[in-house]
Amino acid sequence: MAGRPGYVTVPILSVLAAIGYVYYTAVFLAIPAWLGLATAAGVANAVAFTALAAACVATYAVAVSRDPGRVPPAFLPDVEDAESPIHEIKRKGGDLRYCQKCSHYKPPRAHHCRVCKRCVLRMDHHCIWINNCVGHENYKIFLVFVLYAVVASLYSLEVLCTVCLRMNN
Ligand SMILES: [Zn+2]
Ligand SMILES: [Zn+2]
Repeated sequence: MAGRPGYVTVPILSVLAAIGYVYYTAVFLAIPAWLGLATAAGVANAVAFTALAAACVATYAVAVSRDPGRVPPAFLPDVEDAESPIHEIKRKGGDLRYCQKCSHYKPPRAHHCRVCKRCVLRMDHHCIWINNCVGHENYKIFLVFVLYAVVASLYSLEVLCTVCLRMNN
């Protein structure tokens, strides 16, 4: 399932298809049935939902394509400075955190991702839905995308419920 980072995978296509499906249902079926696209309220709702869907796709594209954070090649843990938070750099046993696969020292909270085949700064997890790690550089945009997606889902749910209730009355 997991493809190489930077490639468009089946989960990515599924997310885009889901956004497209919800968008089509809301703007071309539900809103016209509810208000009609010839009314000011209908147009306002269609425009608002289109903007929300565009924001979803834009933030999703950034979360997919932005590098989650590389360890700088020159990174060396500061072993001389007794005041530095050395306990963060060391493991329990006291050895410095070193990545065998990347052949470099790991900064605090950096982890090696088996899918990306490299260490990622402040790695949260590897997300198959963006075919990328969620890390230091794309954490914020990933959260913004999730927020937009939740708002769009609630919005479309409300529109659909309104339409369904009207059909039953
Ligand atoms: Zn590594
Ligand atoms: Zn990864």
